[in-house]
Amino acid sequence: MNKKPDSAGLTHAGAGTRAVWGGEQGGHPYNATQTPIVASAAYAYDDIDVWYDVALGKAPGFIYSRMSNPTVETLEAKIRQLEQAESAVAFSSGMAAISSVLYTFLANGDRVVSTKDSYGGTNKIFEEFLPRMGVQVTLCETFDHVEIEAQIAKGCRVLYLETPTNPTLKILDIQRLVAAAKRVGALVVADNTFATPLNQNPLALGVDVVIHSATKFLSGHGDVLGGLVCGSETLMAQVRHYREINGASLDPFSAYLIIRGIKTLVLRMRQQQHSARALADYLCTEALVESVNYPGLPSHPNHSVAAAQMRGFGAIVSFVLVGGMDTVKVLLPRLRFAHCAGNLGAVETIYGPARTTSHVENTLEERLALGISEGLVRVSVGIEDTDDLLADLQQAFAYVRRVREEPPVSLAHLASHPSGAEVAS
Ligand SMILES: *Cc1c(COP(=O)(O)O)cnc(C)c1O
Repeated sequence: MNKKPDSAGLTHAGAGTRAVWGGEQGGHPYNATQTPIVASAAYAYDDIDVWYDVALGKAPGFIYSRMSNPTVETLEAKIRQLEQAESAVAFSSGMAAISSVLYTFLANGDRVVSTKDSYGGTNKIFEEFLPRMGVQVTLCETFDHVEIEAQIAKGCRVLYLETPTNPTLKILDIQRLVAAAKRVGALVVADNTFATPLNQNPLALGVDVVIHSATKFLSGHGDVLGGLVCGSETLMAQVRHYREINGASLDPFSAYLIIRGIKTLVLRMRQQQHSARALADYLCTEALVESVNYPGLPSHPNHSVAAAQMRGFGAIVSFVLVGGMDTVKVLLPRLRFAHCAGNLGAVETIYGPARTTSHVENTLEERLALGISEGLVRVSVGIEDTDDLLADLQQAFAYVRRVREEPPVSLAHLASHPSGAEVAS
């Protein structure tokens, strides 16, 4: 007999409990405690009538793993529990999820309203691919809610939101913009990657479709790509149909890694957010930093909105360095407890400039038009000890200061030989 909690039994459990037990129905072969990786492209039936019933959805079961797979379904059930959604659909990457949602719901002649700040790949879909299909896209100034409302009021099929934004950490007032969208009958889609389901549940704020890049905090270990979409059964049936035919399905090995990662999401985020706040506070005092973006700072322009719609402020901080890219090139290689890489949300701390991370797809002109300066650095704070991360950043800034004060050697020279002048201890 299966004594594992069913979905109903989990509804009132805390997020940490839902992260561990969500979707875990038990009843595995050999009494295994862990969800098996079902590595099978197809599922066999000797009874052709049963096979046909399963194919028609009249009986439970699996036909072909592009359409559904038991390991992937466990992951879908888990994210459903975390976002308190009726239904969920998994994809092979966050971008596969985002593009598939947009292509599911948009057709020639439709209009999308969104903001200038959004993940670089999403911005490319808006600027390059949707216009090509005859979809009109209007990207508003992210801080200007009045302009966004005015554009929505002109009529649109989809309102697309990302909050907090990557890498600028701007905050959109979800409930306010949902209200404007409902007045014109628009579908509201939100990228919840930065917040994670622990800090923000857009469905509860009226959003119709929530998207996650599971590559980031959900999997949490920087070793897998995946995307997840949540919403009502009706909307997800359409998204699932699009996935079945267009084929950006998640493989069961990746699904297993994401399931495993999600179980520790609460513990990781607790530590990561704590350190993120400490780093943000320090960066505010650092003379070589022009500005710091973190929604948890009372000085953040939309801190009060963030405080109202989020339970925590996340583990991403971004800041603009005095001296632009020259300073970036000296500071980043000097960090000891950090990867310089184009990922985020992993257990290791990761630093990167927008040029090579979130907006690698964009030209310099496009980045500047989006308000992304060359000195903007994003840090995804890991689970290392807070004091170590602070000390690491402080020693790297001390090094930049020494380099800037040492006349004959140029910054550009040091940047190409980061350990040439002084070897890290
Ligand atoms: C990384 C990211 C994506 C894209 O996800 P992939 O898994 O890399 O395809 C989308 N939105 C946000 C906010 C992201 O950080």
